[in-house]
Amino acid sequence: MTSPSRSRDRSAPAKRAGFAAPQWDYPRLENAEPIEVIRWVVRTIERLAVATSFQSSGLVILHQIKTLEPGIPVLFLDTGFHFDATLEFRDHIAKQWGLNIVNLRGEHGSPGRQAELYGRDLYRRDPNTCCAINKVEPLQKELEGYDGWISGLRRDQSPLRAHTPIVEAQLLPSNNEILKIHPLANWTKDDVNGYLAEHAIPTHPLLEQGYASVGCQPCTAPLDPHERNERAGRWLGFDKTECGIHSFGKSGGARETEAEQ
Ligand code: SF4
Repeated sequence: MTSPSRSRDRSAPAKRAGFAAPQWDYPRLENAEPIEVIRWVVRTIERLAVATSFQSSGLVILHQIKTLEPGIPVLFLDTGFHFDATLEFRDHIAKQWGLNIVNLRGEHGSPGRQAELYGRDLYRRDPNTCCAINKVEPLQKELEGYDGWISGLRRDQSPLRAHTPIVEAQLLPSNNEILKIHPLANWTKDDVNGYLAEHAIPTHPLLEQGYASVGCQPCTAPLDPHERNERAGRWLGFDKTECGIHSFGKSGGARETEAEQ
């Protein structure tokens, strides 16, 4: 179950033409509070979306943007492999906050069909392909209808995210360029938890069970409480801590994010 979807006007013109880097006012944004970045994004980009898996950073962004841009599409990669707790939490927050959830699925449509096409347990044999067909490709396809999207990446989450810029350009397979915005790049885990506590915002229920980063069930494990890399519990046994949605089509930005595998 998801919240009622509000219609999106994909034909609406962008608020500004072109994404030339000097117009980003990037240096000011680099030291801005997340709410200032979000205000800038809402003012600047007409066709805008947020992508989230309803973890702590995403909740901060949703909480800040929901009154500034009511009805903004909230993209959720509905892989078919999520924990039930994630789907229930998504629906709970969506209902409470009146969010416009847009669930995205791969072209194969379901885990059952995926097994027919790619064989059983693809995530165990080839997680990169599994992430590509369930996350990267559906997101790329959806992003063709937007000029920019917001993600909750933070620099303190993992070494691969340590150089995440506030704003960067991303090239879609069609060669259309969009902006990707990380309002929380400068924030720490403590900043996020402090904000959630201050505003009495509930957190993903699996965090209480030792999970630091919750993705698909087959690829997510709880972490030792002393582990500093929040992504260390993802894809155990593989040299992989990212699904690929943050690494494709990097075409510029004041600071490049390190390549993700
Ligand atoms: S996180 Fe795991 S199950 Fe989910 S899409 Fe990636 S490989 Fe597949």
